[in-house]
Amino acid sequence: MTRPVLEVVDLVKHFGAVRAVDGVSLAVAPGEVLGLVGESGSGKTTLGRCATRLVAVTSGHVRINGTDIAKLSRRQLRPLRRHFNMVFQDPSSSLNPRMTVADIVSEPLRLHRIGTGASRRSRVNHLLDQVGLPAGVGRRYPHELSGGQRQRVSLARALSAGPALLVADEPTSALDVSVQASVLNLIGRLQSDLGFACLFVTHDLASVEFLAQRVAVMYLGVLVEVAARRELFATPRHPYTQALLSAAPIPDPPAQRTRRRIVLTGDIPSPVDPPAGCRFHTRCPVAVDECRVVVPPLRPVGPAGALVACHLVADDGTGPRLG
Ligand code: SF4
Repeated sequence: MTRPVLEVVDLVKHFGAVRAVDGVSLAVAPGEVLGLVGESGSGKTTLGRCATRLVAVTSGHVRINGTDIAKLSRRQLRPLRRHFNMVFQDPSSSLNPRMTVADIVSEPLRLHRIGTGASRRSRVNHLLDQVGLPAGVGRRYPHELSGGQRQRVSLARALSAGPALLVADEPTSALDVSVQASVLNLIGRLQSDLGFACLFVTHDLASVEFLAQRVAVMYLGVLVEVAARRELFATPRHPYTQALLSAAPIPDPPAQRTRRRIVLTGDIPSPVDPPAGCRFHTRCPVAVDECRVVVPPLRPVGPAGALVACHLVADDGTGPRLG
């Protein structure tokens, strides 16, 4: 099997008493887009930040191209940072307002001492072109650009040193609806042209369906289902995945009208004191006694290698169908 670009093993991240990520393992293959979905409070953003070591890891491993970066010092990490990068939700706060666009995009090249002044300038022009911005934008400052243009600059910056892994955290959700689709299309095109692996963190299932080859569903700090995109959207097995999909709008008004929405009662519980047994049992419409005491392991089910953490899903992948 090809070595994953990103391999997270038993990752735990606690912020004091808050158990944001509580033992997650996943891998992203070269050139693959893995969508990581869940409600706000599921821990998905923290997982993305741990994967790029923007936050320290409490325990577990984060391997990038085989090197475990989980416990490296800042100094040890610095030269490795060219291999992975991150795009954030709000480009306004992630771009330095005092730098020109050209300086922002070329900063990773300077930090990693890639190329000469002339070759960096030509690389910046090429990157701006790749993200659909005219070369003249290089002389401007972030505040002179629209939100969509700023996110294009963030992408150019994130990709300038040619990373093997891009972690994108809700990259379109702070943008006007009118430009979300074009930025999403751009990420898809860049990913297929450049071939980087991508961990795409979002609450928006439509963008995951558009971009990802596989999908991992997170609930309250743990993974509850991982499956190929087609399989997950056609046959969601975990009750939480079924509820998430039933709440997502579909671009087919008649189907939308007839579809039954699975309404979960209550909010996502506090990650300070997650429920015992299956963490979803306080909201699961089909929970049984076992669910309140025994933690369901994430295990392979069905013929196509999906992973599901639910006591009621059988090894052949059959199980409760809600809605
Ligand atoms: Fe629901 Fe029990 Fe399955 Fe958890 S293990 S999802 S509570 S049925």
